[in-house]
Amino acid sequence: MLISTETIGKKGADAIVIGGGVMGCAAAYRLAKEGLSVLLLEKTEICADASGRNAGGVRQSARDVRELPLAMYGVQNIWPALGEELGVDVEYVREGNLRLGRTEAHLEKLKALAESSKKVGLDVRMVTGDEAREICPYMSDDVLGASWCPTDGYANPLHTTIGFYRKALAYGAVAVTGVTVLGLGKAKGRIRYVYTDNGVYEAGRVLVAAGYASRAIVNTVGIDVPVEREDEEVFVTEQLPPMFDQVLGTAEADFYGHQTKHGSFLLGGVSGLQHFTSNHDDHPTEAYTAPSLVRGIIRFFPSFANVKIIRCWSGQFDTCVDGVPVISNVEEAPGLTLAFAFTGHGFGISPAVSIAVKELMLDGASTSIDISGLRYDRFKAKQ
Ligand SMILES: Cc1cc2nc3c(=O)[nH]c(=O)nc-3n(C[C@H](O)[C@H](O)[C@H](O)COP(=O)(O)OP(=O)(O)OC[C@H]3O[C@@H](n4cnc5c(N)ncnc54)[C@H](O)[C@@H]3O)c2cc1C
Repeated sequence: MLISTETIGKKGADAIVIGGGVMGCAAAYRLAKEGLSVLLLEKTEICADASGRNAGGVRQSARDVRELPLAMYGVQNIWPALGEELGVDVEYVREGNLRLGRTEAHLEKLKALAESSKKVGLDVRMVTGDEAREICPYMSDDVLGASWCPTDGYANPLHTTIGFYRKALAYGAVAVTGVTVLGLGKAKGRIRYVYTDNGVYEAGRVLVAAGYASRAIVNTVGIDVPVEREDEEVFVTEQLPPMFDQVLGTAEADFYGHQTKHGSFLLGGVSGLQHFTSNHDDHPTEAYTAPSLVRGIIRFFPSFANVKIIRCWSGQFDTCVDGVPVISNVEEAPGLTLAFAFTGHGFGISPAVSIAVKELMLDGASTSIDISGLRYDRFKAKQ
């Protein structure tokens, strides 16, 4: 679909957002609400990539301290009323997260993460295996201990992303799907042009939020962020009677999940075996290694042994070399803002990211949430 200059004004849009995942849709909403004309460009469909394939964890625990302010701000200030704000049930549940350890090495890792998070004010503590089983009685005796964060939770990623998208449209944002952004261009030293397979679009500000495809897009104006595509698998069990409301994860992050309010469990993880499936690149959304993930889960939850899996899929995300995102304006290209490299844990922080992105794009000087550790120029060659 070609968009007319009448729709976005003769001088182009105030802002172009590249990518119709949760980051792009949430940013489009915040910017349109501020009165900017916003054009959202999406290669396939809204919410078709990681944002529509993730497991919905809204977690603060076990995060790098550089992104904890975003995670904590979201849980304290946005998630509890987000459904009301968007006019959709985002199915947010805040009943805590147990991150489980089966070995002394796991417990050491969990302790270190808990200590660093406590220093920035997060309520997270270590519990023994028995205390963990009191919170969630279905776990095997193999669990030696866990970190426990009572304010973690989960939400429905599809409802959330589409909720942001619809609100963006309601405030006048225009979305074009089926258009692939090929690169960016400058005018008088500022970002101005967005080159696509459907012509050139213009805007005073451009947000790149295109997941793992973002690197190639920003490369066209000489910026590089070291991200690569990674795969993760999710599966859904048959409906079960209500068992527990907590989110569960492991020290190695090889599996995590929760029971949805419909009764099915949504379980995800990385088996580490996905690179050994020869046809994965031809069918990137198929889950190939779910059986090995399931074996791992049964070690933690023996009672799951006979539970049926009714669906599974694979999703791709943008893993950054140092494990945290880039949320930043770019000094060499005024008008350009980046929000990608979320490394498989962007959904939970997306509402807070959209506040920071809006502030970066409107003012640029400062943000109300500390994102100082997430700049684009933090990467240095090895000395
Ligand atoms: C299986 C799985 C499980 C996960 N579980 C969790 C979890 O429990 N909790 C959590 O916090 N996070 C989780 N994540 C991570 C989370 O899904 C992502 O961090 C988040 O969705 C990132 O949103 P995004 O908008 O940046 O990216 P995406 O949702 O990937 O959106 C990027 C969009 O850009 C579009 N695009 C790409 N190239 C172009 C182009 N050239 N032109 C125009 N558009 C383009 C894509 O089509 C896509 O729609 C998980 C991810 C996966 C895959």
